[in-house]
Amino acid sequence: MRALPVVVEPFAGETVRSLYRRLAERNAVPTGELWTVIRHARPRLPLRTTPELVPRLVEQLAGLPPGYFDGRSQDRLFVRCAHAKWRHTNCQTCAPLPAPVTMCRRCARGQTVETRTRSGAVCTRHRRWHHAGADDDLTGETEHLHAERCLTGTLWQRGVALGTGELELATELLILRHADEPREPDSGNRDERLRELYPKAVQLTALLTEPWAERFLANTRVGRMPVAALVEAAVTAVDTRSRHDLAAIRESFRSRDREALITLNRSVRLRHGRSPGLGELGARILGIAPRVSATFLRHADARRPPGQREHAPRSRAS
Ligand SMILES: [Zn+2]
Ligand SMILES: [Zn+2]
Repeated sequence: MRALPVVVEPFAGETVRSLYRRLAERNAVPTGELWTVIRHARPRLPLRTTPELVPRLVEQLAGLPPGYFDGRSQDRLFVRCAHAKWRHTNCQTCAPLPAPVTMCRRCARGQTVETRTRSGAVCTRHRRWHHAGADDDLTGETEHLHAERCLTGTLWQRGVALGTGELELATELLILRHADEPREPDSGNRDERLRELYPKAVQLTALLTEPWAERFLANTRVGRMPVAALVEAAVTAVDTRSRHDLAAIRESFRSRDREALITLNRSVRLRHGRSPGLGELGARILGIAPRVSATFLRHADARRPPGQREHAPRSRAS
């Protein structure tokens, strides 16, 4: 396909549909009409405008080199795969690009742009909250900037990004801690909650995806009680900003076979099914414990290239 007359400079990691929309706008062609032209060349495409199905054609229309939309390796989310001996890397073959996020409006020079790059919800350069199209000032909110660095550093290398589910669950758990406190009407907006709780949600996710926590959560033989006890302690320590409790938690949860040893505050040795004396929050977490473990363990799942499935070792690291 011939390139359109007016070219558009793509932003790093810009998605196919974002560039397609800007390209159509700049050339004064409605996106639907441009799609009709593409469908003349490829009649099997759906009626609905879905440029992400034809990245190679959009590259041609935009005058970009073939493969441009395959993305840069530094933007890939880390996964465990055979190419790196089951360690986390941003492997060119197995590692996916993260889910699309809206770019900081200032970085995008005032335009609406969507990218898949190594980033979260905060632009540390301009100190803006840019999640889901927002453009809010974060001057003075240093915790948000720290959280962003943790997300794109430590968490990214563990395979955790804004869209992989852990942060959403961490936010939900933090809200659960205050579930029966009276709320302002209108405080239920998910995006607002995420903005408010972002630093704590990142910290909680970082804590519960540390290797010791991964080992503890992966031991399904101890049942769901110890999981609820760990998550309750972690949510409370993060929410009350207790450095002492955070340090104690790292030392206090161990398990072997069917036995969990919890030494937080007092030493409790639990055989499968026994109660560790959960608080109110722990009792709430108990009901969703399997989902909590599965979500915080998701990053440890290994990718197996097709054809190697039968020979691949067990996915869980020891
Ligand atoms: Zn790989
Ligand atoms: Zn910016």
